[in-house]
Amino acid sequence: MTRTLSQIIKPKIKKIATTISTGILALHLLTQTNHSLNNLYHHFLPDKQRQEFVREFGFPLKGFDSDISGYMGTGLYTIGDVIYKEMLERPFSLSSLSIRSPNYFKESIFDQIGYIITTDNGGYYDPITGAIVVEDGSPSALHHEIKHRKTFEIDKIHPEFLERWKNLAKRKNGESIYKPGLEQICLRFRLLNKLVDNPSNYEENNRYGFVSDYARTNVYEDIAELCEKVESISIQGGLSELFDYSPKTHQNLRPKIQLAQEYGLIPREFEDFMVLTLKYRNLHGENGYYDKSGAEEFLKNLDAFAKKHPRSVYTADLREAKAGVYQSMLALKDVKDKDGQKKLIGLYKDVLLSPYKDRVAYGVSLTRLKDLYRNLGDINKYEIYAKADTLHSERFFGGFMMLSKEGVNDFLKEKGELN
Ligand SMILES: [Zn+2]
Repeated sequence: MTRTLSQIIKPKIKKIATTISTGILALHLLTQTNHSLNNLYHHFLPDKQRQEFVREFGFPLKGFDSDISGYMGTGLYTIGDVIYKEMLERPFSLSSLSIRSPNYFKESIFDQIGYIITTDNGGYYDPITGAIVVEDGSPSALHHEIKHRKTFEIDKIHPEFLERWKNLAKRKNGESIYKPGLEQICLRFRLLNKLVDNPSNYEENNRYGFVSDYARTNVYEDIAELCEKVESISIQGGLSELFDYSPKTHQNLRPKIQLAQEYGLIPREFEDFMVLTLKYRNLHGENGYYDKSGAEEFLKNLDAFAKKHPRSVYTADLREAKAGVYQSMLALKDVKDKDGQKKLIGLYKDVLLSPYKDRVAYGVSLTRLKDLYRNLGDINKYEIYAKADTLHSERFFGGFMMLSKEGVNDFLKEKGELN
């Protein structure tokens, strides 16, 4: 009996296919062993920082030491900063946070498959396991995934929340502006996403209150994109990303911002903070002169805000702005005003005692305190603040996890300061 060509070739192809797939499986198992051993090792032998992480936030940090310490170049500082801030705004839980390796062979099998078929997203939140996975990226990627988690937590206790948000993303005829289901699925995968026309429409996004094209994917991305951008705003910068300096854009986004505030997805005092931020940025008039009466009014408004929101995450930012404005007013008056200088020292020390120790506001305050003590001729205090300033930088570059919670107040208290 003679065999046809295909009968001869088919088993060979089958054999080759089996060999290849066995090889792939073996490789997967090998890399999985690598991955699982790493997690197992850290389950039983968590190092000091991982133990501190669980104690602080209530869930474990997974990933390779090298990936975690190399994250954003500042290791655990970025991770600790984002999570601590989010916890102050609205506490949340997770099953774990994993830092995904850019090295394919060190990833879990799920991430390996994910890496192959899905489009790059810098991370994901898994609603089934309640875990977040992020790769090397910006703090905004971490905020984004945490906002997804918080959305699920809010949805569980407030089932009306998502419907209320969806109602804000409708055309006049009641049609949803989000992408149709099939298009959403295609966008998630490599190659398939090329089939879906995805033009950037800035004008239309503005008109309908979307902060990005990606926000139009579905209600979850709309929420995460907007709330993530809110987190990047400080009194000094970040506003343009969200509001484009145009009150008109703000008007379109406002209903969503108010809803996010109402459910605690962003700080509940965000709009109050925005009002102050806009006033602060207008303190210098068109001709560049400092507006003295505007400054006095601004300081009054700041005090009212502090009274209304004593635990705000914006406290350090606003206190530093307050000290800065007061310092400018002092400079206009009399540089040698000693009582004024002493009051100024008190204002900068207030920054150091804020619940969320914003790295920039805190660092600037240490530098100012150092300079003020030097001007006053207090060499002892000058040296304390010079050391504190250096220590703060060292802790930041060294990846100190709880820098935004502790700053260098432990050192200052040891030296008899901040009592
Ligand atoms: Zn997302």
